[in-house]
Amino acid sequence: MTSVARSIVIVGDSIAACTAARELRARGHDGPLIMIGADPDGCYARPPLSKHVLKDEAVKAETWDLSDLDLTSIVDRAVSVNTEARTVTTAVGTDISYDALIVATGAAARRIAGPDQSGETVLRTFADVRALRPTLDEARTAIVVGAGFLGMEVASACVARDIAVTVVDIDPPLKRLLGPYLSDAIVARAAAASVEFVQAETPVALTGDRVMGIEIADRILTADLVVTCAGDVPETGWLDGSGIADGRGVGIDELCATAVPDVFAAGDVTYSREASGRAPFWSNAVAQGKVAAASALGLEPTCAPTDDYFWTEILGLSIKVVGPLPLLGEPTVIEGSVADGSALLQWSHDDGRTTIVAFGIKKSVGLLRRLARETVIPTT
Ligand SMILES: Cc1cc2nc3c(=O)[nH]c(=O)nc-3n(C[C@H](O)[C@H](O)[C@H](O)COP(=O)(O)OP(=O)(O)OC[C@H]3O[C@@H](n4cnc5c(N)ncnc54)[C@H](O)[C@@H]3O)c2cc1C
Repeated sequence: MTSVARSIVIVGDSIAACTAARELRARGHDGPLIMIGADPDGCYARPPLSKHVLKDEAVKAETWDLSDLDLTSIVDRAVSVNTEARTVTTAVGTDISYDALIVATGAAARRIAGPDQSGETVLRTFADVRALRPTLDEARTAIVVGAGFLGMEVASACVARDIAVTVVDIDPPLKRLLGPYLSDAIVARAAAASVEFVQAETPVALTGDRVMGIEIADRILTADLVVTCAGDVPETGWLDGSGIADGRGVGIDELCATAVPDVFAAGDVTYSREASGRAPFWSNAVAQGKVAAASALGLEPTCAPTDDYFWTEILGLSIKVVGPLPLLGEPTVIEGSVADGSALLQWSHDDGRTTIVAFGIKKSVGLLRRLARETVIPTT
């Protein structure tokens, strides 16, 4: 049954929030729709920030136009929620009533600086990119803390600007996410591009009152620029005391429902109460935005709350993955060669599922999804 009078409030202004807003209207919600977002740059896509916007001044952030949705947009930070009174309070002190609430406040970059250290550089927002660009223009050397996809994308931007870059992590590049086989391939590619990789045995500490370097074991490394890419932390501070969030984020079920009635959640702020926890990736934020919107209207979702498509771009190489992660053991090479930087790969998992990886080879996501569903891999 479609609700016409219910007022729906979405807190957040990024992909999960915008997808939820669009889905609410598409599924027939014609009552009040209010979006509260804290980013003064509005609604934009984060993935291009580290892949294109950081590298090239001419490339602008990809923004979304929601003007056709007849929504009330409030640019402010939600600071608390009262689940009894069903109100969200913003930083300027406005109380906004809801019948259903969708929490889509995402995550913030995890910081590792000590309380007395200033100048830690992270990359999460368009404002972070604007702050980073002039430093990149000047820097000759850089250290990137964290060899996940974001750290390796930032290292790639340094290489594109002829900056000598060292990447530091406890694990080899992307090993936690993609597994050892692809990690080894990325390490080889990074070495060929003169990216130095330092494997730390203990967590890295930043050095300098104004951050200038890092300390690992008994070594201090310094550089013109140090960027922390050490993961993200769900934005749940405003939910304190509400029962909606806990130390892991906002727990959701298959319908993106939280533990509190009429409160739903989507995107990086969430973890699955039923599956494997947090999966803070773009495609999941889109899927959950749709599911949360349907659930807020009491309708059947049209998709699952997870979508295991992930992509990244490292040192000019596009990597697209469809299927469960991480990838253990050797793949079947369907086409091309990893050494040549152009291969279509398949991993079969013990539970019968398949993961398909386009490693530097141009393949549509639709094709990868089809191959991941198929049990027999075509040889031509
Ligand atoms: C640089 C970068 C590159 C990435 N590249 C990829 C990629 O290649 N592939 C991939 O799968 N994923 C990638 N990701 C991850 C992907 O962007 C996230 O999974 C996605 O943005 C999550 O969307 P979200 O809407 O849940 O949260 P977010 O994008 O974190 O947005 C949450 C929004 O809520 C707002 N907000 C927070 N707190 C409040 C509050 N209290 N009140 C009001 N508003 C608030 C914030 O201002 C923010 O705009 C990348 C992330 C970054 C940072």
